[in-house]
Amino acid sequence: MKITSVAATAVRLDIPYPLYPGEGAGTKIEWGMRSRSTPLRPTPMLEYVLVRIDTDEGVTGWGEAQADIGFFGETVEQVRAAIADYLGPQLIGKDPLDREHLGRVIGYRGNGCAKSGIDMALHDLAGKAMGMPVSVILGGRRRTRVPVAIEVAGGKPEAMAEACAVLMRQGVRAFKPKVGGYPEADAERMRAIREAVGPEASLRADANQGFSPKEAVRFCRLCERYGVGLELLEQPVAAHDLPGMAFVRRSVDTLIEADESCFTPQDALAVIRHEAADVLNIKLGKAGGFTQAKKIAALAEAAGLKCVLGTAFGLGLEIAAKAHLFAATEIVTDAVEFTELSLHGTLLRPPWDARFGLPLEDGCLPVPDGPGLGVELDQAKMLEAVVQGTP
Ligand SMILES: [Mg+2]
Repeated sequence: MKITSVAATAVRLDIPYPLYPGEGAGTKIEWGMRSRSTPLRPTPMLEYVLVRIDTDEGVTGWGEAQADIGFFGETVEQVRAAIADYLGPQLIGKDPLDREHLGRVIGYRGNGCAKSGIDMALHDLAGKAMGMPVSVILGGRRRTRVPVAIEVAGGKPEAMAEACAVLMRQGVRAFKPKVGGYPEADAERMRAIREAVGPEASLRADANQGFSPKEAVRFCRLCERYGVGLELLEQPVAAHDLPGMAFVRRSVDTLIEADESCFTPQDALAVIRHEAADVLNIKLGKAGGFTQAKKIAALAEAAGLKCVLGTAFGLGLEIAAKAHLFAATEIVTDAVEFTELSLHGTLLRPPWDARFGLPLEDGCLPVPDGPGLGVELDQAKMLEAVVQGTP
């Protein structure tokens, strides 16, 4: 089998409100910044690139790449051009089943989102060619339901608590509020949220690099004193400050998770060497796809760490991809973050458009069991969302 074409299409979905707004709440490194909203993009939206890989045997694979200058540093124009003009053309004529080798062929520095979109399409294609779900190719399908966590934007304590209560009524059982401003105020937010969600719900917090090391220690100690039952604190300090994160980790009982500090397997190794985290956050867009994500999971397992699959707003393909990776990777713990469920629908055909949506049955999403990613894009919904390119 040979690859005959690699197509990249930019799509845009409007969302009801800006992601993580809140001067005075959430991470203070973003206060005064426009983040994802810029003068040319004044309304709230999410942008993605769909990847389609065709072969001479008629098997087609689909993938999806995020684009977000705020987190990944990659714009939708960059991701589309990287796939269409630089990475994709190098794959023409090659065997799509040689995924590890093809990853090396396009293994340029950075460009994690673009590489991830291609890697996802290659896995979808391989699964369809073999008649197997991606999870089986990745290691097995022991887990068929994925517990869901959803992030909550920073704001007034009562507003954050209410946002969690609304999600609870839709079946969500795990929450990750945004903190990273002032430790005392943030600990009060966590206390209000715990009161609202009750003792059983899982409660994480993500500081998005907002604390200094000593602020992070203060926040954790306050949460410990208030009995918040914080499952973990994500990325308390600046991404590059691994010694600072190690100081936080040594100073508190709360588990510390690396997100912005951990994009690639090399980053994971640096976090491990510094003993800077208890948990590694894996995102396909950071790692550059399943192949690299599995290597991060292997490093974590060898070092005695846990992994969490973090939020990667998705159109449906990415949701399926994360479900398969969770099913196939036992070192990955509950719950997997799917914040997009609270923001927009998918571009999928039935029944997966409904299955990948709120309300949740038992706090979980199902892992698709069909070949490849096991989900199909809805042609009409996809065409409506297209900004540039032909799917
Ligand atoms: Mg994070």
